[in-house]
Amino acid sequence: MSSLGKGDSEQMVPDINRNRVAEILQQLVRIPSINPAFPGGTGEAELGRYVEEFLLRLNLPAERQVVAEGRFNVLGTLPGRSQRKLLLEAHMDTVQTIGMTIPPFDGTIEGGKLYGRGACDTKASLAAMLAAIEVLALAGIRPEVTIELAAVVDEETTYIGVSALAERIKPDAAEYIGAVVGEPTGLDIISAHKGCCRFYVDVNGIACHSSNPALGINAIDQTSKVLSFVNELHERRYPQRAHPLTGPPTVCVTGIQGGVAPNTVPAHCRITVDRRTVPGEEPLIVYEEMKRELEELAGAEGLELTVSEPFVIDYAMETDQKEPIVRYLLTATQTYEPQAIIRGAAYCSDASKLVRVAVPSVVFGPGHISEAHTQDEWIELIQVEQAVCALRDLILNVKTI
Ligand SMILES: [Zn+2]
Repeated sequence: MSSLGKGDSEQMVPDINRNRVAEILQQLVRIPSINPAFPGGTGEAELGRYVEEFLLRLNLPAERQVVAEGRFNVLGTLPGRSQRKLLLEAHMDTVQTIGMTIPPFDGTIEGGKLYGRGACDTKASLAAMLAAIEVLALAGIRPEVTIELAAVVDEETTYIGVSALAERIKPDAAEYIGAVVGEPTGLDIISAHKGCCRFYVDVNGIACHSSNPALGINAIDQTSKVLSFVNELHERRYPQRAHPLTGPPTVCVTGIQGGVAPNTVPAHCRITVDRRTVPGEEPLIVYEEMKRELEELAGAEGLELTVSEPFVIDYAMETDQKEPIVRYLLTATQTYEPQAIIRGAAYCSDASKLVRVAVPSVVFGPGHISEAHTQDEWIELIQVEQAVCALRDLILNVKTI
């Protein structure tokens, strides 16, 4: 890997040391940073301090952006020769470790893989960004654009980290050529992804003794009509709204609660609805549409139901493939991974919050989403090295125009 530098021919391209890349990732994995919303949640503060010290040791400015009590983003800068900026962003939090079949915080390396909670999602991306910045800082390189690093909190639940970052960027968004948001994409460049809207539907019936169910109205039976309607939307209507990169919107029921006793006809049943939106769909409009249709269904079928306000709204995102950030990153990545492509994704990420303040953003990083949040989470180290090389070349080659 060390000889793969492909920056501008007249520019020095510092080598990447694969052992150092693995060492940085191992250090990140060994610091627990479970989102406090999850069981065993430690918060991200210790990892934030690591990133801060990492930057300060390189004599780079590092700043804490406090977003909640005990929770802060760390913002660093690799100064460039212009005011134009390139943002490298990755989240520090991970999901819980319950049920893991490997030691979650050992960072064991075996067979070219590094194991641990967050190894794939998304400490490998953060390690790649840190390693690229380190090698350029140690070589005394001042790139044409100023590089900002943001290690943020709370991607796995409510996005308070990136939301605070986006608010800060908003007045100066025009200075940004773009942002690379670290997530496991298998080194593909994600230029569009879905958003989501989640809400509850409560269906009411009339309780009675289950020895004579005809005396009541079974709320679970009534809910089955709502389930059929939701499946109808998913299977028949939404495929016609497919987006070329993300595929069609989807909807599914992700929770159900009902019944109080084995011998009582239930008077109440609640379902959780998860509607995934595609670029171009406004989640609140989508929500209003579903609410209206569910109420029409209730009228037609004689159901008594209420649709809650959404408890999660997240936006889909799309960045024009002609944006310089997309082109430069694709070129840089294909040097090391010729199979890398531009594509869409079904999941949500921090990128949509940056796109909403007009920073052209892509999602990019080593590892595959199918390896994230797993019992034996791991990352292939070769992909992390390829990501470091791609980010280094992106930083060296990206132009201010
Ligand atoms: Zn992630």
